[in-house]
Amino acid sequence: MNPVFLHPERPHPAKEKLEAWLRYYEDLGIRSFYRDRCSPAGKFPAPEPAAQEQALPAAVPAAQAAAPAARAPAQPLVPGTGAKVQGIVHGPSLFEAAERVEGDTLERVCSDLGDCTRCKLHRHRNKIVFGAGHAHAELVFVGEGPGHDEDVQGIPFVGRAGQLLTQMIEAMGLGRDDVYIANVVKCRPPENRTPEKDEVATCMPFLLRQLAAIEPKVIVCLGNVAAQALLGTHKSISHFRGQWFDFRGAKLMATYHPAYLLRNPPAKGEVWKDLQKVMALLGLEPKKRSR
Ligand code: SF4
Repeated sequence: MNPVFLHPERPHPAKEKLEAWLRYYEDLGIRSFYRDRCSPAGKFPAPEPAAQEQALPAAVPAAQAAAPAARAPAQPLVPGTGAKVQGIVHGPSLFEAAERVEGDTLERVCSDLGDCTRCKLHRHRNKIVFGAGHAHAELVFVGEGPGHDEDVQGIPFVGRAGQLLTQMIEAMGLGRDDVYIANVVKCRPPENRTPEKDEVATCMPFLLRQLAAIEPKVIVCLGNVAAQALLGTHKSISHFRGQWFDFRGAKLMATYHPAYLLRNPPAKGEVWKDLQKVMALLGLEPKKRSR
């Protein structure tokens, strides 16, 4: 092996890499970190989001309709697979997985995620729920995390709330294969509790890479957790529901989670108004009801 000669006036390459990594997390609003000593892959640092609330990005005008462009055919979902050798998960560290990759693909993100044990949610999961749908969808829905049915099947939004989301998508004149559906965390939180800050912060880089690979025109956040995670705010969704935001080249809107609509059906009207804004932006016609 060739020796590494370090220039006395230049920072060590590892220091440069660490600084780039910290800048990346600072962009996400994450400024403090801790090590999960319980994880078998304890070498992975698990960052915590910053306690300081970030300002919401400026809302943008809704009327920027664009006709949908021709898209490549839908690709099958690739479930996460990690090579296990003697019980140890081998794959890139969170450090590496968080780095944006030029020409990233969903397959590559899925491969890098592997049989992930980066946060404590892996301990009780059955299946990682990576995401499902069109690899280059114009419209992406982002929820909070898998529930029981999703955990069993490894597919997002397949329970009662998922069935309602499917109805919403079909009412927009689309099918589930036309859109992409993912969650902020890919493993089911125990008892369907809200994902904790460190869990969101650890899983988010993979969602961000998925979004970068898909390059959607519109991202719809379903519920508080997804909206707060992507917009970097602690404000309740009621403050900004139905408003447009710029998000990394896409338009982003937050609306209520289908699970909330199951508990509070009158709110469906508000969500339908939000989805109509999305349809206007994408140039979609609502599905015609058969008589
Ligand atoms: S929730 Fe995300 S980061 Fe945590 S173990 Fe599952 S895939 Fe890994």
